[in-house]
Amino acid sequence: MPQGDGRLSHDLDPFDRGPQDACGVFGVWVPADEATRAEVSKLTYYGLYALQHRGQESAGIAVSDGARIVVFKDMGLVAQVFDESVLNTLRGHIAVGHCRYSTTGSPTWENAQPTFRSSGAGGLALTHNGNLINTPELAARLESAELTGTSDTEVLTALLATREGGPFAAAREILPVVRGAYSLVFMDEGTLYAARDPEGIRPLVLGRLPVAGHAGHGGEIRQGWAVASETAALDIVGAQFVREIEPGEMIAVNEDGLRSQRFAEPRPKGCLFEYVYLARPDTTIAGRNVQSTRVEVGRLLAREHPVEADMVIPTPESGTPAAIGYAEASGIPYGQGLVKNSYVGRTFIQPSQTIRQRGIRLKLNPLREAIAGKRLVVVDDSIVRGNTQRAIVAMLREAGAAEVHVRISSPPVAWPCFYGIDFATRAELIAGNLNVAEIRASLGADSLGFISLDALISATRIPKDRLCRACFDGEYPIPVDEGSRGKFLLEGAGK
Ligand code: SF4
Repeated sequence: MPQGDGRLSHDLDPFDRGPQDACGVFGVWVPADEATRAEVSKLTYYGLYALQHRGQESAGIAVSDGARIVVFKDMGLVAQVFDESVLNTLRGHIAVGHCRYSTTGSPTWENAQPTFRSSGAGGLALTHNGNLINTPELAARLESAELTGTSDTEVLTALLATREGGPFAAAREILPVVRGAYSLVFMDEGTLYAARDPEGIRPLVLGRLPVAGHAGHGGEIRQGWAVASETAALDIVGAQFVREIEPGEMIAVNEDGLRSQRFAEPRPKGCLFEYVYLARPDTTIAGRNVQSTRVEVGRLLAREHPVEADMVIPTPESGTPAAIGYAEASGIPYGQGLVKNSYVGRTFIQPSQTIRQRGIRLKLNPLREAIAGKRLVVVDDSIVRGNTQRAIVAMLREAGAAEVHVRISSPPVAWPCFYGIDFATRAELIAGNLNVAEIRASLGADSLGFISLDALISATRIPKDRLCRACFDGEYPIPVDEGSRGKFLLEGAGK
């Protein structure tokens, strides 16, 4: 999972990576005569910085000055890819940006985004959060266009760029046949676009961006627009949340204002796992704040799985809000039992097997004095393979804990995700193979409790039928064929 961002507990063991996010997208448009003042490439950089937890493999920004699009992208974190001098060369009044974790196609430079495509009508730079599930069918529509990358996004970009009538018309024709999860932010030389799949699986929000201190025509303050995966990214660039991009909706923003069109009937199925783990705590999705949801889940977890104990501790940082809720509802004091090194990131030299066998202490270390002799409740957000939680239980016991009771603020993850989150395969998911009693024994915990699916859903305050819960209950809202599964399906396909 994202590393070094201070909130996450997965990935303590490099061979037990947690759920990998599928990307963050960001876009901004300001009036052309505000380009110099607004510095859209820097706004996009800050937006991506706020979304870094959604993808750390590569980052990129495309900027248009109205006449041409320039793309800069590279492998690495946002702060590694961009510096002041690079951002100063990206001049214009429209920008789109992306931070990537790959779900279709390898993590290579070619597959980094924004993807770019030019046609007779001009250029198109596109960013995508999600994962398409009919990529081969879409690729087959590309009769003559060569693909430079092997991602589903590359296929989509080619389809949108090579249609007559510009991206708005092309999207109206193409998006209804695209299946899967897609929150898209893209642009041509003069317009910023955003679109969201009819299920609205991944979040995408619209914000108004005041162009500060400048009175335009009629004495009004000029305004720009921003779109982002999460509301937190709007906050960080000073944009005010306006609304979500609706499932099945596409918008276009340019000098003529904001246009919206519906290309498909909405069938909302927002990702439940965004509330569990993926989104930032300071983000709000479908009107429900993520942190409040996580604390509420902790309270419900205490009611569903009470235990006699002396202290509730989180697995830092992702277990923290649910641990706060658990402590509050149970009356058991909350405390810190594990210290995390937040600076162990993707570029960190991973330990060899021999070093790993000496114990995983590179990212977490127990606070012996706080935990020795205590009966502990350890709260974490989810279990994927179980290796991390097993290591934590052993670490706490070795540090003198009298009892270790593990509480998980999501139901068992028993099914893979095909909509943009890279969990392990079903065979690798511990809950795909073992029941709760067997998982408890495998972790070496004194007790283990998962929140029920109904309780988790109630904490989101969103009706069950408007949420995707497939990784928990196996009910996939968009049917997935065998042939469309797999991260590397376009590799070696010749297109
Ligand atoms: S399967 Fe799970 S992670 Fe994937 S979209 Fe559905 S709820 Fe989210």
